[in-house]
Formats: sequence, C-alpha cells, structure tokens
Amino acid sequence: MPPRRRGAHPHPGHSKAQCLKVLRRLSAYLDHELPISVCREIRKHMGACPNCEDFVTSLRQTVRLCRHAKIPPMSATAKARIRREIHKAAGLL
Ligand SMILES: [Zn+2]
Repeated sequence: MPPRRRGAHPHPGHSKAQCLKVLRRLSAYLDHELPISVCREIRKHMGACPNCEDFVTSLRQTVRLCRHAKIPPMSATAKARIRREIHKAAGLL
C-alpha cells in the first residue's frame, strides 16, 4: 500500500516544508516572544501563503504577540487549544 499523501503541494512556488517551519515557530510563540527578525520572516511567509494566512487569521492572539504590543497573557486553556490547532494544521500539510 502506498503511503498516504495529504496535500503534497498546497500551492505552487511554496513548499510544505516552509509551512511546517512556520507552524512550528507559531507554536513557539505561545510560550516565548520570538525575535523580531523571526516575526518578519513568518509574516512574509503569511503574505505569500494563503494556507498559513488563513490559519493565522484564526489565531489572532498569536499574531498579536508578534506585534510586540502589550497584551494580557494567554490562559493555559487558550494555549492548549491553539497548540492543538497548530498540530492539526501541521498534520494536514
Ligand atoms: Zn505556508
């Protein structure tokens, strides 16, 4: 039986490896503030990648972290929920 292939190429000119890298970094956002250079890289990817952009739009709280604005810390429940969403999305790539 051939291995299951899920969405080998979401869109042209953009590799799923990049998406996975971004999603993993998003996961890191939840616990730590990322350096601004990494934030820029992620946002650049979001601009070029409809899949990730859609995903992040649903995670506004995460995006807010990247703006270095003063926001209230996320609850453990919210973090757990977002992390689940990220892992689910990563599994679909
Ligand atoms: Zn992507």
